[in-house]
Amino acid sequence: MIAAQTTSAHANALYGAAALDLPRRGVVHLTGGIGAIAQTLADAVQRHGGKVRYRQEVSRIIYAEGRPVAVETKRGQRYPAHTVIANLPPWNIAKLTGDHTPAALQKLPDAPQPGWGAFMVYVGVDERAIPPELPLHHQVLAREPLGEGNSVFLSLSPAWDSGRAPAGRRALTISTHTALAPWWRLFHYDPHHDAQRKSNYAERMLRAAERVLPDLRAAAELTLPGTPVTFQRFTRRVQGWVGGFPQTDLFQAWGPRLGAGLWMVGDSIFPGQSTAAVALGGLRVARAILADGRANEALPVDRRASTDAPLVKTT
Ligand SMILES: Cc1cc2nc3c(=O)[nH]c(=O)nc-3n(C[C@H](O)[C@H](O)[C@H](O)COP(=O)(O)OP(=O)(O)OC[C@H]3O[C@@H](n4cnc5c(N)ncnc54)[C@H](O)[C@@H]3O)c2cc1C
Repeated sequence: MIAAQTTSAHANALYGAAALDLPRRGVVHLTGGIGAIAQTLADAVQRHGGKVRYRQEVSRIIYAEGRPVAVETKRGQRYPAHTVIANLPPWNIAKLTGDHTPAALQKLPDAPQPGWGAFMVYVGVDERAIPPELPLHHQVLAREPLGEGNSVFLSLSPAWDSGRAPAGRRALTISTHTALAPWWRLFHYDPHHDAQRKSNYAERMLRAAERVLPDLRAAAELTLPGTPVTFQRFTRRVQGWVGGFPQTDLFQAWGPRLGAGLWMVGDSIFPGQSTAAVALGGLRVARAILADGRANEALPVDRRASTDAPLVKTT
């Protein structure tokens, strides 16, 4: 479920075989947590002469003669490009292409599917509640079907990482797979039941976590629940859709090339979600673009473009 985004009855066998190897590879912790990956990538881009623009949300991909020639941000900046690599779900990309939506994106269903959202509980916890030798990752499987609080993942920040929590405290994230539609329906039409459902889910998650940390509730100094609405707000991913497409069929996987000069990377393409998988997918796309030979051509002239192009990545 966590690697393939589907259970063994539906996962394609080849993918399932690779996923079964993951626990043997072990779990890696980075000082500072997942943000350290973003920082490492940003540093590498800059070291190689690229530029990283923060707080610049791309609002439009501009086309001329059937291919992208620039991207425009909400702040009205324009950056010329002969190749646009969108690190986004297909629904987000379709919105950016306007009247030029490539054929591959024209038949998307209205709502993202198949796939999942995540319900999260972020907890700040007094470390005295955590036994010293306790492993940092746990899966609590209460019952089937998995997801919706029946299966819960716990990750504790390592005691040695002072960047994740104040001294004497630890960060705990608890997550479960959840369907998107009910959260959005309640968010839009029934705020009272939305709040109630959020608190029921948080309660269910904390109860599951107590199987690992029996004193959790007394030790929790901060408890912040998050729904797919939260994910959408902070990541801009359509409806808070996470994890990409469930890996059920190799032949249904999305290809990265969406049209002339437009590529998709990230968890929507093979081999799907996880830091390792999106990195693999990105390597494959980088090779394909370099083989295409246009990467070193002069940029198209766009008089309105900002002068500090090329844009490498916006976040
Ligand atoms: C609860 C949870 C736990 C997870 N745990 C793990 C784990 O332990 N290990 C692991 O390997 N993987 C884990 N994953 C999976 C991992 O987080 C994803 O596979 C990975 O983040 C996907 O990377 P991505 O680049 O495809 O998308 P994202 O990480 O979503 O990156 C897309 C970026 O684009 C930005 N963006 C969106 N719209 C625009 C726009 N218009 N203009 C500019 N920028 C934009 C977003 O802000 C975001 O920074 C977890 C996922 C979830 C939901």
